[in-house]
Amino acid sequence: MTAATTETPDTEGQRSDDEAPRTDWVAAIPFFLVHLAPLAAFFVDVTWQDWVLCAVLYVSRMFCITAGYHRYFSHRTYKMGRPAQFLMAFGGTTAVQKGPLWWASHHRTHHRRTDLDGDVHSPRDGFWWSHVGWILSTKYKDTDLDGIKDFAAFPELRWLEKYNWIGPWSLGIASYLVFGWGGLLIGFFLSTVLLWHGTFLVNSMAHIVGRRRYATPDTSRNSFAIAVITGGEGWHNNHHYLPSSVRQGFRWWEYDPTWYLLKGLAALRIVRDMKNPPARLLEQARVRDGAFDIGMFRSYWERAAKVTGERIADLSARPVPPSPEGTDGSVDTQAPVSPPPGSDEELSALAGLITRALESADQLAAVTRRRKGTKVASEPDATEPNPE
Ligand SMILES: [Zn+2]
Ligand SMILES: [Zn+2]
Repeated sequence: MTAATTETPDTEGQRSDDEAPRTDWVAAIPFFLVHLAPLAAFFVDVTWQDWVLCAVLYVSRMFCITAGYHRYFSHRTYKMGRPAQFLMAFGGTTAVQKGPLWWASHHRTHHRRTDLDGDVHSPRDGFWWSHVGWILSTKYKDTDLDGIKDFAAFPELRWLEKYNWIGPWSLGIASYLVFGWGGLLIGFFLSTVLLWHGTFLVNSMAHIVGRRRYATPDTSRNSFAIAVITGGEGWHNNHHYLPSSVRQGFRWWEYDPTWYLLKGLAALRIVRDMKNPPARLLEQARVRDGAFDIGMFRSYWERAAKVTGERIADLSARPVPPSPEGTDGSVDTQAPVSPPPGSDEELSALAGLITRALESADQLAAVTRRRKGTKVASEPDATEPNPE
């Protein structure tokens, strides 16, 4: 991982690190080819079984991503034994989203630096970047093993990380051998493409559309539609507020099938010690009428800072108006009218004000993070083991 993860907040929300993101074409070409593969299904016989395979592979692999890569490897919201942990990780690799250590280490960085400089996929850097661009960039190609030392300690997980292609290739070949071309193109490739974009929506759209219930220091939102697509990961504002909670839908109507399936696995003693938020935390930091929503405050002011910064850059790039006195000493009455005096200074003062407001917001966010009982960072003790 680059130094981006440890830099101080950049009040303009821009990436201040030197390395400009470049597309890794070695990774991008197969990525685009996989998108085209399902179109080849127009030239083969596709049966209803292929569509059932597509649905089954979508749902089961999504579960390995949400329950495994996300709620277990990234956030440790519950415990399981080593064989189950390995199987969950292997299931995750079949979703073709690289290995569990790469996925979880980058996701932990997202939570540490949400919407700040160093966030691996903030929509502040553009929708395309947050959705796909960061995955295809050379910048985040490598696994930050320091960020995932707890799981990197398991040799079987490091092995799986290295050979993360074994899962998807085995699944693709098995789909072909059992169901034929339709099974490969619709069952495997189409479900893989849908699975990718379903997962990516959480990184992009879940910070753009939806409602906010908790005043987190970021732009995370709750979206029912994204919850349906991702098996319960659409309650992203809930999740950024309490990332150590195994359950992300905090209300009965907040659709979260990943949580219900994990409850089932807990009943079978496959998983244990699921962490759930205490009721008092669910009521704190609520965004109510008139409440100060720090995440959105910062979002709007950063936009103001960007516009002001661009305006100042425009002014300084502006050619100096020629002197009213021409070179021959005569007075040039056609000289352009200079802008009203003080506009540069006024803009600079405005930029200073915005910067100070953002600094105060950051301090307030840090205080909110640390305040006892309202932890919003990924401290595991923010939640309690599920009494069930
Ligand atoms: Zn997020
Ligand atoms: Zn998360």
